[in-house]
Amino acid sequence: MTTYSSRPTVHEAMSRFRASLLRRASAVSWVVLAIIGAQAVRTEVYDRQEFYIPAIGLILLVVLSTIARWERVIAASWAPLVVGSWMLALIAGVTAVGRLPELSGTAEPILYGLAAISGLLLPWWAHTLSTVAIGSAIAHIALTLGEVDAVSDVVAPVLTVVVVAAATALVNFELEREMVVSASRERMLEDQRLDFERLYEVSATLARAESLSEIVPYLVGTICRYLDAQVGVVLLFDGSTNKLRVMSPIWVNGSTVDAEETAIEVVGPNVIAQSYRSIRPIHVRRVDENSDAHIVLRELGLTQALVAPLKVEALRVGVIVVGEPVHGDFTQDQLEQLGSLAAPAGLVLSQIGRYEAQTEMARRLEEVAQMKTDFVSTVSHELRSPLTSIIGSLDTVSRPELAPTHPTSQQLLQSARRQAARLQRLIEDLLVVSRIDRGAIPVHLENIALKEIFDEVNRVVQVEASIFVEPADATVEADRDHLTRVLINLVENAAKYAPGSPIELKGTQMARHCRIEVVDHGPGIPEDQRERVFERFTQLDQSDTRSRGGTGLGLSIVKSLVEVMNGSVRIETTEGGGATFVVDLPRGR
Ligand code: ADP
Repeated sequence: MTTYSSRPTVHEAMSRFRASLLRRASAVSWVVLAIIGAQAVRTEVYDRQEFYIPAIGLILLVVLSTIARWERVIAASWAPLVVGSWMLALIAGVTAVGRLPELSGTAEPILYGLAAISGLLLPWWAHTLSTVAIGSAIAHIALTLGEVDAVSDVVAPVLTVVVVAAATALVNFELEREMVVSASRERMLEDQRLDFERLYEVSATLARAESLSEIVPYLVGTICRYLDAQVGVVLLFDGSTNKLRVMSPIWVNGSTVDAEETAIEVVGPNVIAQSYRSIRPIHVRRVDENSDAHIVLRELGLTQALVAPLKVEALRVGVIVVGEPVHGDFTQDQLEQLGSLAAPAGLVLSQIGRYEAQTEMARRLEEVAQMKTDFVSTVSHELRSPLTSIIGSLDTVSRPELAPTHPTSQQLLQSARRQAARLQRLIEDLLVVSRIDRGAIPVHLENIALKEIFDEVNRVVQVEASIFVEPADATVEADRDHLTRVLINLVENAAKYAPGSPIELKGTQMARHCRIEVVDHGPGIPEDQRERVFERFTQLDQSDTRSRGGTGLGLSIVKSLVEVMNGSVRIETTEGGGATFVVDLPRGR
């Protein structure tokens, strides 16, 4: 788990500040020594024992403070003693020098300076001690110098020392407080940053996966690493059994292990079920050997665990369990972290779960559709042979030499022949549809003269359509059988739904394609139904269609066949009323 050791604590920050203050003070001390030396030369006291002995002592102290590794000293617990002693030695040295009347004026400001930095360097008790020492030193100097006016020469400088010392102690106090505040703010921001980083990584890992079995090990692995846990398990809610099911694999010590099929009741005393029900993370400090609430945790061999619900807003998806911290015990902080990591995990797990369910559903639907196509194809084939033989028999029986003489018998025979033909059309349509569904429609493209194929259609259908082709030798690139079927279908529809109205078959060659129009002057097709009529089994007026015969498959076959020939079909309104079916196909080469 990430620790915060890289960030300075308040103590460390203060130590650094104090060490740098001491280094600067050492540098300034050399200047002060130079001033004292210059003063001693000017006043010719340098060769007096009272001067040079304390002066040598001061030089040694400043040398010592210049070479000292203050960072180390200050960080130690005994630092106040060392710094305090160093401070007392300086005070003593400066006092000794200050006892000389020639140097007392220089010593006094130095002592004020020492009072100021003592406040920033020492804890309150040591600072108080050094303030007393400095106050005494100033009083001592004043008294040594002889005639003193108690107020102006002793009390005033001592008071000044006290004020300076108090002011710097206050500054020090404020500084420390500010550092505590900013350190805790910094720590909070750092925690937030780490939380975001983890959430981002968990979400990013999860978003890449497509199946639950792929995502679960990633998820628990990432979370276990963050929480310094050795074991991680995800249990997902199974709505069909109302149980929480352990997802395999589980995470153990950096690798995945297949889990046995285990499920626990959502109702019941188990701590995992409790976390799921209450939507709250639970910290299990010690897995109890005998408690029913800890049964699954025990089976997993855990001695302590964190359990958090996986949820998407109010929807509960499952539970995540992490157990066995690598070091020490799980903390409240880690429980909260698991809670926040479980949020994106729940979201993605539920999405993937839904995606998997939908994929499974789509697969099943595809299977059913395939079964239906196979069934239609088999049944149609099976019906075709007996029907062909029935039609053959009816045609034979209808021959003049064999036909019955009774008019009713003749009518019945004709009716049977018509119905057989209708059945044959239906079976043919179903066969074509099943071939289209299987993608098994053969397409042989060739150049076909429009005039020629229109004539062919006119020969097959029972009505005569007027033919217009512009230019007369216009050709399309199409499959002859398919195009014939398409045109017969459209012309027969025109005859069926616009009885008695003239029908036109028009062909026009355009720049890149050929346009074929089948025009009638019947009732037409309302604009909002023009897409729908191309769908399977769509019949606009059921009663109308029933009386005219039809399956609702014709136009869907037309559309599929036109499309496999790289064309398109649509419906327009005929001028003056009626339907115009427009088929666009590639131009012949
Ligand atoms: P059906 O076997 O019912 O004829 P189709 O797929 O060929 O099936 O046609 C679908 C429906 O479109 C028909 O039921 C009919 O209502 C309508 N329709 C087709 N062609 C025409 C037309 N030329 N004029 C008016 N309505 C038509």
